Amino acid sequence: MPVYMDHSATTALSEHALREMLPYFREEYGNPSAIYGLGQTAKNVLEKSRQRIAKCIGALPTEVFFTSGGTESDNWAIRGVCQRRRDKGRHIISTAMEHNAVLRTLQQMEEDGFEVTYLLPDHLGRISPEQLEEAIRPDTVLISVMMANNVVGTVLNIKELAKVAKRHRVLFHTDAVQAVGHIPVNAHELGVDLLSLSAHKFNGPKGVGALYCRIPN
Ligand code: PLP
Repeated sequence: MPVYMDHSATTALSEHALREMLPYFREEYGNPSAIYGLGQTAKNVLEKSRQRIAKCIGALPTEVFFTSGGTESDNWAIRGVCQRRRDKGRHIISTAMEHNAVLRTLQQMEEDGFEVTYLLPDHLGRISPEQLEEAIRPDTVLISVMMANNVVGTVLNIKELAKVAKRHRVLFHTDAVQAVGHIPVNAHELGVDLLSLSAHKFNGPKGVGALYCRIPN
């Protein structure tokens, strides 16, 4: 029997998730925007799912937006902030070890007139708060640093890095695709503004992800 050892790439759908999902493919397949019964049932299920995910990541349900996966969540976070803040500045800080979902999006932002500083991790894959603080400029509009690395498995100290961003009033995104479902992730405690997650990394279905967007107080 083969032994599968690439769970950071993807995981099998769990029996539990499959059982929960099946009725919504076959019997309760309504459009959640529809006003009739089938649609309203779908809407209720969608909102319950949002509440469950929010609880898992220490967020409010209104801060959880469903996407098609980690790649879309990362794209949305980066493009959304850049589009919204481009009049305030065109500098982004990220790291050289991000997943391509982030790196390729940043490349496109560079083609669109943004400048990106790629911080280099130390030998263990860490980024220090001091290193981050040194890179911040008056025109920095976004910092995007992954929470757990998909190749070497380093878990970064996002809470400390987000504190630096907050001190300088720069929005902070973390790609937590390799963290959610494996280690405790609490968006409010981390103090991040945006956080990406993806279901197929923790025995959920492929094609489902979410973006956490902090609601400013
Ligand atoms: N970010 C990280 C760190 C990943 O490891 C992956 C997937 O390998 C992604 C983003 C992309 O997620 P998805 O496959 O859900 O688009």
